[in-house]
Amino acid sequence: MNFNIAGKQALVCGASRGLGFACAEALAGEGVSLTLVARSGAALDIAAKHIAETTGHAPKTVEADLSTEKGRQRVLSGCPTPDILVTNAGGPSSGDFRKLTHTQWLTALETNFLAAEELIKAAVDHMINKSFGRIVNITSMTVRTPIQGLDLSNATRLALTGYVAGVARQIAKHNVTINNLLPGPIATERLLELGQTAEQLIARVPAGRAGHPRELGAACAFLCSEQAGFITGQNLLVDGGLCSFTV
Ligand code: NAD
Repeated sequence: MNFNIAGKQALVCGASRGLGFACAEALAGEGVSLTLVARSGAALDIAAKHIAETTGHAPKTVEADLSTEKGRQRVLSGCPTPDILVTNAGGPSSGDFRKLTHTQWLTALETNFLAAEELIKAAVDHMINKSFGRIVNITSMTVRTPIQGLDLSNATRLALTGYVAGVARQIAKHNVTINNLLPGPIATERLLELGQTAEQLIARVPAGRAGHPRELGAACAFLCSEQAGFITGQNLLVDGGLCSFTV
């Protein structure tokens, strides 16, 4: 299937590795021009080189910390008018909910909610003017079912989910869509960091394995396609069937 997005400009966050990188790779495969964001310039250079070699499209890069206002301004200066926006950053830390500090809560809100909210707000008017826009947020299966010990994720992801549910419907008539991708256990460095929590999750996946990042990347590319214009405000689990619900 030709997704008809060749030549579009995409801003992909948290793209030096893992799920963000997989989304970038899938979009580059569709001929999309990329700006990749992550905190480490060295890791971004490696990611950009890999994408340039495999797809023939060399991405731009912006080294920035999305958890800070300054970092977000840097990102918007580097790519002020994307046609496609993929919001993503590292997941919040795990631990006993009684020991979570105010600072940890604020960092999680900045990283996993306000970063996406600010980039969406900055990007939508250009998308509306062009009558085309695709926004995909990488959130988590914790939106559908809590994971014990990941209370920062369980809570802050829902702020973004609620925000998207409202905003997506306000801009849908302009062919600008916003959807969320909800990964279950997918084999990235983040998953390794979760140790035993990750192993226990993988053991319960009906598909019998952890996911591959490119499986989420492919879903992202589809949601960014011209053909996905009638899909908005949705939350798509990419979890091998782990969250067991009828609808
Ligand atoms: P990862 O840690 O492997 O990669 C995260 C990427 O984001 C890296 O490129 C990193 O440099 C970048 N990043 C992290 N914090 C940043 C910041 N403050 N500013 C800019 N860039 C930043 O993680 P991943 O596995 O690819 O996961 C991506 C997101 O999906 C995370 O929020 C994670 O919690 C969520 N998630 C992942 C899984 C999984 O199984 N992999 C499951 C559920 C949810």
